[in-house]
Order: sequence, then structure tokens, then C-alpha cells
Amino acid sequence: MKVLIWFRNDLRLHDHEPLQDALKAGAEVIPVYCFDPRQFGETSFGFPKTGKFRAKFLLESVADLRQSLQQKGSNLIIRVGKPEDILPALANEVDAKAVYWHEEVASEEADIENAVADHLEAAGKTVQTYWGTTLYHPDDLPFPVKKLPAVFTQFRKQVEKYSTVYETLATPKQLSPLPKSLDPGKMPTPETLGIEVADPDDRGVLPFKGGETAGLARLQDYIWDTDCLKVYKETRNGMLGANYSSKFSPWLALGCLSPRRIHEAVQDYENERVRNDSTYWLVFELLWRDYFRFVCQKHGDRVFYPSGLRGLKIKWKQDWERFDAWREGRTGYPLVDANMREIAATGFMSNRGRQNVASFLTKNLGIDWRMGAEWFESLLVDYDVCSNWGNWNYTAGVGNDARGFRYFNIPKQSKDYDPEGNYVKHWLPELKDIPAKKVHSPWSLQPVEQKRFNVQLGVDYPHPIVDLQKSVQANEKIYNAAMDRSA
Ligand SMILES: Cc1cc2nc3c(=O)[nH]c(=O)nc-3n(C[C@H](O)[C@H](O)[C@H](O)COP(=O)(O)OP(=O)(O)OC[C@H]3O[C@@H](n4cnc5c(N)ncnc54)[C@H](O)[C@@H]3O)c2cc1C
Repeated sequence: MKVLIWFRNDLRLHDHEPLQDALKAGAEVIPVYCFDPRQFGETSFGFPKTGKFRAKFLLESVADLRQSLQQKGSNLIIRVGKPEDILPALANEVDAKAVYWHEEVASEEADIENAVADHLEAAGKTVQTYWGTTLYHPDDLPFPVKKLPAVFTQFRKQVEKYSTVYETLATPKQLSPLPKSLDPGKMPTPETLGIEVADPDDRGVLPFKGGETAGLARLQDYIWDTDCLKVYKETRNGMLGANYSSKFSPWLALGCLSPRRIHEAVQDYENERVRNDSTYWLVFELLWRDYFRFVCQKHGDRVFYPSGLRGLKIKWKQDWERFDAWREGRTGYPLVDANMREIAATGFMSNRGRQNVASFLTKNLGIDWRMGAEWFESLLVDYDVCSNWGNWNYTAGVGNDARGFRYFNIPKQSKDYDPEGNYVKHWLPELKDIPAKKVHSPWSLQPVEQKRFNVQLGVDYPHPIVDLQKSVQANEKIYNAAMDRSA
């Protein structure tokens, strides 16, 4: 019996249930990946849906998967086109009885998967889907997903008490060769996908390289070789350098790393080296990832609505002039600008940065949070539909446990998380000569100081585009009015 394994955001051979299941049934497996042109179109606000950083990471990940499959005696069939056209045709061509894949939850992915299933079933093929993206399996949650708690802490406490993380599945040692007559297909290039080529930028936190091989190497490096897990909780709010946080997110997003594999590594580390708040905290953060995945499964499309999971009808602005200042790093607030320049140059931004820039866009500028979410979708090397849209819902105050108008105080955050100004100076070299205590408030520099510190406000670095206090007050009013209307 032949079975097609449709690889999607699960570009790995370890802990891969569809593959293992087919092998257990004694099937000859035919692995396939489709580059779907819809993934390379535009978002609703007109940004490239898969920007250059993620496109590069994806191409590397698919190439790595192909190489690993070749080393095991098989290969990866690569096609460019719609999976609902390609998979039934391929299944017929090789006379496969069934197609197995990992399911997705967000609407675009689920629609495609439903179309694939319809076409395959019409062609008389069996379809088998699996869950493989989270630490906890939905079958083992102490509640049905439709009863998922509205507050993360309740979710966490219940799963920690009543659920277990299943063991990972082994990587297959050997696979059967593919039929000789089958054309394996060529890897596309960024150009053929209509994507700009991403140039490496050595100011970035890591030269992220896609693929299971690089993902497992990062796991080994962060946890074992550099022993960084030991201090994760103390360093995780950093913004500069490779090791303040794990940087596992891009590999998790494309499934090059299974979260259960990370969990096992943490357990081994706890047994062999140390168990402390930091080792717990990495798993705690992975629970946030699980939570957003289940939130999306429960609420479907609502995570994409302007009114969000909460259904809060806020009068958001679509002010392109200010949005451009935000995305180009020209707001006049160094912490915001440095982070926005980092994501534009590298496709990555720290969690601390993401929270601050998202708060600034929505709570200071009052701009439609979906513009920010789509900008992130386009640029992030670790874009994950559930984590991105879920987090944006929360920062915009439209998440399902929204507790009133909350915002990040940018000057305080700057002092707390970048006290020496090293991060902002890294991305805003025009501020490099300003002493630490003034670098986060360049607007306060007198003309003589500007001269001394080689920065002319309004020329080298912009004046603030809004007054922090006034803009927060104005947006709080708008937010509270929406809360009153929804009460
Ligand atoms: C507005 C906004 C948008 C975001 N968009 C994404 C996204 O598209 N993809 C994405 O993976 N993360 C997203 N995050 C969450 C978080 O910022 C990143 O997961 C984290 O910065 C990745 O770096 P790391 O792997 O070093 O994280 P670490 O601190 O090392 O955390 C380990 C892992 O835990 C998970 N995690 C940590 N924090 C969160 C969180 N808040 N929500 C969900 N999972 C989390 C990630 O899988 C991460 O790799 C977003 C956060 C915000 C505020």
C-alpha cells in the first residue's frame, strides 16, 4: 500500500505521527510538499503574505527535509500549485490509497485542507488527519476545546494538574525508495515565487537557518552547549544578542522542531543538570503557544475580526501616514523605532519589543491593530497564525480576557529593559553619542546638547509623532466608550 504524506507546517522527521502511522501500517510512504501560490500573495492591507525572511527560512526548511529524506533512502516530492489539485493527481499517478497530514486550525489553512479532503474522497482516496503542533494533545485536555477557559492562567493550572505531555515519536531509520518514474520536482527559488531575496544582516540576533537540522542544533546549543536554559527566566526579557531567549520560535512555527522534543530536552536537563524557575518557565511559555492554538480552534475566524475575540467595537484609525512612521521606525520614540527597524531588517523582534510596539500602535496611535498584525505576518521569520493574531488581540485589548485599557509605558519600559541604551544605539546609530540617561528621550535635548551629541532633532532623528500622555488618554476614552457600548 502507498500512502502520501502531505508535509505542511511540520517540516521534520522526528515526532511525526502521520509518517509513523503509515510506516506502522507497513505502507510505502511518498512524502510531498506543495508551495501554494496563495501563500505568496498579499495580505488584505497589501503586504506580501510571506515576506522575504520567512520565504528564505521556508525554502531552507523544505530543502533540509528533502535532504534528510534522501539520506533515509526516500525523497521529497516538490510541487508548486494548489494542494487540492496536486495531491489527488499525485495520488492517482502513484496509485496511493491514502493521504495523511497534520491538521491546521485557522480558516485559510482549514479551508484548503477541506478542499483537499473533498477532492481526494471524490477520487476514492482515504484521508487521515493528525494533531501535531502543540505540547498537549487536545484528546488529553481536561476539557473539550469548546470549553477552553477564557483566561490563560486557568488553562495552565488545569493542564498542569490533569494532563500529560505525550512522548515524542522516533525518527524513522530507513524509508523505501520512491517509484523511479516519479519526478521529484525542483525546489523553487525566491524569484520564481515572486519574493525578494533576503540579504543577511549581521546586526540580527541570529542568522536563522531553516530546517530540522538547524532547529535541533539550536536546541542543543541553547540548552546544553551554552547552558542558557539555567538562566532563561532572568534573561528572557532581553532584546540584544542570540541567547537572551531560546529563539526556538521560527523552527516551531514551521514544525522543524516539535514542542514535545523541546519539553523532553528540558526534562533531561532538569534530571542531569538543574531544575529551577528558568527550566519551568520555558515550558510555561510553550503553554502560551498551546493556548493561542486552542483559542483559535475554539473561536475560529473571530481572532481576525477588528472587534477581536471579545467583540469590542473600537473606532480604530487607518492612518497610513502614522502607520508608515511606525513601521519604518520614525516615531521619535527610540525603543519603538529600534524594534521596528530590527524587524524590518531581520524578520525578528524580541517578545519585549513586540509587546511595546504593538501597545504603541494601538494605545498611543489608535491605529487598527490588524494593520500591525498583518505587518508582522509579512515580516516575522517565526510567524505563526495563532500566536501572532492571538497576541495582537491581547495587546490591542480585544482578547477574550481583556481587563480594561492597559498599555505599556514606553519611557519606563525603555529604562527597565535597556538601561544603558545599548539596544537602541545598536539599531539607531544616529543616537550613539547620547549618554544613557538621555538616549531614551532625545526630544528633551537642548540645541547645545544636540550639537554635542551629534544629533539634530527633526533632521537626524524625528520629533515624537504624538504626546505619550495625551495620546494614551484620547485612546483610553475611545476604548472605554466601546466597553460601555458593549456592556
Ligand atoms: C504582538 C505579538 C505578536 C507575536 N507574534 C508571534 C508569532 O507570529 N509567532 C510566534 O511564535 N510568537 C509570536 N509572539 C510571541 C513571542 O513574542 C515569540 O514567541 C517570542 O518572542 C519568540 O522568541 P523565542 O523563541 O526566543 O521565545 P522564548 O522566550 O524563548 O519562548 C520559548 C517559546 O515559547 C513560545 N512563546 C513565548 N512567548 C509566547 C507568547 N507570548 N505567545 C505564544 N507563544 C509564546 C514560543 O513558541 C517561543 O519560541 C508574538 C508576541 C506579540 C506580543
